[in-house]
Amino acid sequence: MSQGLVFDIKRYSINDGPGIRITIFLKGCPLNCLWCHNPESISPNIQKLFSTARCIGCGECCRVCPVQACRLTPGGLVTDDRLCNLCGKCAEACPTLATEMSGRYRSVDELLGIIEKERPFFDQSGGGVTFSGGEPLQQPEFLTEILEACGRKHIHRAVDTSGFVRTATLLKMAKSTDLFLYDLKMMDAERHRKYTGVDNRLILDNLRALAESGAAIQIRIPLIGGVNDDAANLEATAAFVAELQGAKKAVNLLPFHDVAKGKDVKLGRVRDLAGLHEPGGDGVAMAVELFSRYGLNANVGG
Ligand code: SF4
Ligand code: SF4
Repeated sequence: MSQGLVFDIKRYSINDGPGIRITIFLKGCPLNCLWCHNPESISPNIQKLFSTARCIGCGECCRVCPVQACRLTPGGLVTDDRLCNLCGKCAEACPTLATEMSGRYRSVDELLGIIEKERPFFDQSGGGVTFSGGEPLQQPEFLTEILEACGRKHIHRAVDTSGFVRTATLLKMAKSTDLFLYDLKMMDAERHRKYTGVDNRLILDNLRALAESGAAIQIRIPLIGGVNDDAANLEATAAFVAELQGAKKAVNLLPFHDVAKGKDVKLGRVRDLAGLHEPGGDGVAMAVELFSRYGLNANVGG
């Protein structure tokens, strides 16, 4: 039985599919979206996060480190990445959460046990489990096993995907997925590459193929001022979604908020978000109205 690298688990989630859900975030993503809310999801490896502001210089991490990778200096705590084996002992010992680890391997049985504890909420609300990321399909073997295990327990399963995966992998996963939350960023290939690091052709082709397979799909569009909230992109997106096979797809618009600044600092990552802004009420209302002209039911959030 395989293990999956999980970086977060969110209970009582009401924005990741129907009802009250538990959302499991898997590490690793082939995209690198400029606006990513979960920058710790991009690397497929365990990472050590550090917040200078929280560090009180107690030296506990240095005391427990088995390979002497941590060192307190006049300038603050320093970790030698060449020595650090990411064992996580420093994070366990840190009294202030200045040091944290992102990513923990979990078995299917362990995760299933966590998911099953939420069953009363699923039963009351028509909820279930959602696998998100990162890109959960980056761990296909583990995802298949946990989806099948949840299916045997009659738990509703949603998968939130960027669609940037091998078509065969996606269609295979559809056999054990009850609902896809499919992210569509923008229609122009060059602009897509500029802001996410990858071309969008595979994403669009996969969405068509998934719709043709009869899978249940909800479209998710991050609405980012200065990036994809212009009328031309929204028109092209709405036209594309309206032409997909099967029942008309529900569309969720997710207005951008710059919430990842603190995580960037802990990862030692710098992003220039100067050209991005929250889309504003008028822009969001315009988008909802535009999608409705194509016969699509667009909601804000979820
Ligand atoms: S993760 Fe382990 S090896 Fe790395 S600094 Fe912390 S205690 Fe030392
Ligand atoms: S244990 Fe935490 S608070 Fe203490 S020196 Fe290490 S990182 Fe800083």
